[in-house]
Amino acid sequence: MKTRLTAGRVILVGAGPGDPELLTLKAAKAIAAADVVLVDDLVHDEVLALAPRGARIVHVGKRGGCASTPQAFIERLMVGEARAGHRVVRLKGGDPFMFGRGGEEKTHLEAQGIAVEVIPGVTAGIAAPGSVGVPVTHRDVTPGCIFVTGHEKRGGPPIDWRALAATGLTLVIYMGVSRAARIRDELLAGGLASDLPAVVIQNASLPDQRAVLTTLGRLPEALAVHAIKSPAVMVIGEVAKFADVAARVGLPRRRA
Ligand code: SAH
Repeated sequence: MKTRLTAGRVILVGAGPGDPELLTLKAAKAIAAADVVLVDDLVHDEVLALAPRGARIVHVGKRGGCASTPQAFIERLMVGEARAGHRVVRLKGGDPFMFGRGGEEKTHLEAQGIAVEVIPGVTAGIAAPGSVGVPVTHRDVTPGCIFVTGHEKRGGPPIDWRALAATGLTLVIYMGVSRAARIRDELLAGGLASDLPAVVIQNASLPDQRAVLTTLGRLPEALAVHAIKSPAVMVIGEVAKFADVAARVGLPRRRA
């Protein structure tokens, strides 16, 4: 289907995990036709360079300033720009509907009578393990995977880590670095083995990508030893054994 780049609508666009070449063609076309681009953190400058000269680029992420732009402000801005007849691109890292508040924004915009289109993106939870050779599913190892945030919303639905452990599926955890010790404890209490492989990938698809392969039991230690920081994806499960990374904590060295 062709993207209808009509004025007065908002397009929620996934920018992929970081490498600008992982942008979809459809995303690139939407950005190149935008009047206004509202952009979160973790979107590469080369992606923004696709916007037309004169397009209004508004950074609304957490990292640039001291705090993230309040969600209400972002939504008001999108509604105002769309009503003014502008082509609004709401650019988000990865996929807009994977932990990107894309769902909330779509609901809000539609309630205001604004048409919303969604252009999916390559999500970090697949791209990051993939970049070190880890498939999130594998017919001989696990029939599926769970994407989950390590950072539950205050007052929101709690995460039942023990129940997740009991599924035996690959766990792909976003935003989990600062909570790694608690997550590890809960998963062990839920019955996962402490020697289950775990791999953590920081800045996946970017030149400064780093990864460490470890075990569930030693996950917090591995993060500390290798100074792994956000943005990083943690993958816990048998599939992590496929990781092709040199940095290891608690596992034998890779055979040459
Ligand atoms: N919508 C995004 C996720 C936004 S939440 C997506 O689909 O990928 C932000 C979290 O995504 C980060 O805390 C981190 O866990 C993960 N993330 C995003 N980009 C990443 C990257 N290049 N490498 C590793 N993790 C990344």
